[in-house]
Amino acid sequence: MIREARSLATVFKFNPSDWICFEGSFLNKVFVAFIALCYSFILAAATNDLPSIGSSSSRALSLVDEQLVGDDYMRQIRAMAPMVIDAEINDYIQHLGFKLVENNPDAKDRKFSFFVLRDNSINAFALPGGYIGVHTGLITKTENESELAAVLGHEVAHVTQRHLARRLELQNQMTIPSLAAFAAAILVASQASTSETTMGALLGAQGLTQQAMLNHSRSNEAEADRIGISTLYKAGFEPSGVVSFFEKMQENQRYYSSAFEFLRTHPLSRSRITDARLRASEYPQRKVASSPRYLLMKAKMQALTERITPVTIKKHHEDYRKGNIKTEAELYGHAIFLIRAKEFDPAEKILKQLAASNAQSSYTIALAELDIERKTPAKSILAIRGLLTKSPGNQALVEILARLFLANNNYAEARTLLLENIHMAEYAPFLLKLLSQAQDGAGFKSEVFETEGNFLLAMGNLSGARAQFEQALNLHTDDPYARTRINAQINEIKEYIRQRSLRH
Ligand SMILES: [Zn+2]
Repeated sequence: MIREARSLATVFKFNPSDWICFEGSFLNKVFVAFIALCYSFILAAATNDLPSIGSSSSRALSLVDEQLVGDDYMRQIRAMAPMVIDAEINDYIQHLGFKLVENNPDAKDRKFSFFVLRDNSINAFALPGGYIGVHTGLITKTENESELAAVLGHEVAHVTQRHLARRLELQNQMTIPSLAAFAAAILVASQASTSETTMGALLGAQGLTQQAMLNHSRSNEAEADRIGISTLYKAGFEPSGVVSFFEKMQENQRYYSSAFEFLRTHPLSRSRITDARLRASEYPQRKVASSPRYLLMKAKMQALTERITPVTIKKHHEDYRKGNIKTEAELYGHAIFLIRAKEFDPAEKILKQLAASNAQSSYTIALAELDIERKTPAKSILAIRGLLTKSPGNQALVEILARLFLANNNYAEARTLLLENIHMAEYAPFLLKLLSQAQDGAGFKSEVFETEGNFLLAMGNLSGARAQFEQALNLHTDDPYARTRINAQINEIKEYIRQRSLRH
């Protein structure tokens, strides 16, 4: 079992050339299987005798059921989609997302989670249960933070207004399986362009007409725009961010085929842009500077998604020499690119200059990343520890310190650090992967199975998770507390599988 789990660890291997996301050839296989699964969902949706989730008298999802469905999708997305695992970028997007959540009065008592998918197109989407996905292209192609916040505010409104759940209510034939297909369509949309037409053809063949989806979407879009602009304003951003973003979307729309139009989560019409412009003009106009975090994370995202080739490396050096790379964010992005290109000396020089002039934790984290690459992790431990003392629980700092410890063979320290901070694993399952490495290295073999189980559970591998928990149970014969905890996990999986079989 451990060996099998370790093979998964290779997917999580952190090295600068792929430190932002986990994806691999196995994903492609799973993806093909998933397409087949979606196809069967769509076929199933065409029949009338499907069981609906929750109360049989209502087609609408209860909040509890919506959360279950959302959790299910999220596990599938974690398993299949190229998620960005960079802790700093995830920290930032969660932070910005929650700034908007706090300013939406309907968002109280709702759960939210923001994540980033590696995809160059400009898009974002909301899933049931408050899961909001942001494409890397949205981060890199927004002009300023208000534009990015505008999209998040809009997505938060889709969740608070329960648009996916309400769509189910309105369209009787749209039962849960086709909602699964809908989510699948979003996933397809974030894959290679060849998939677009495949999925479009599949959906078209099943008679799910574009118009029916779009009609409902348009009223939902108008509502999400209205609430989103108000949230954006209350959160301290520029309401006009919505308008400039829409204009960008319209520009981008030209590149998509008509089949893809159906898959788009936010159909955009000329009247929608006009409405948004009118609505934004009702608020006092103001100029709001983007935060340094936004500028740095955008630069990091750009540097992490750029291809490393002799040509791009040469261009980076030329631009630097000519003085075209001059702002702090540009210099930082340039240094991140250089680390990925394994040009450590110039990267270090730039990062040290930046760190000397400005105490941004990003510079210290990048220097730590560089030390891991150079196999001198001990050099950065003190600096990162110092930052973590000032910002306890900061996910990016916990993650980089754990990796420094692991690279320096300080397994016991890594284990203690991660166990203290593992409550964040809900948002970052890769922390569990680091924990299992630490437990293994520190000689806590009995803990490894439980951690691997929790990791596989978060990644949607229910049977794998259950097998790991059962192994853990075998090793904990004399610890009643551990047995109770692990048994609860196994029972939860059994219940989850039962629910899923009822739904599908
Ligand atoms: Zn929308």
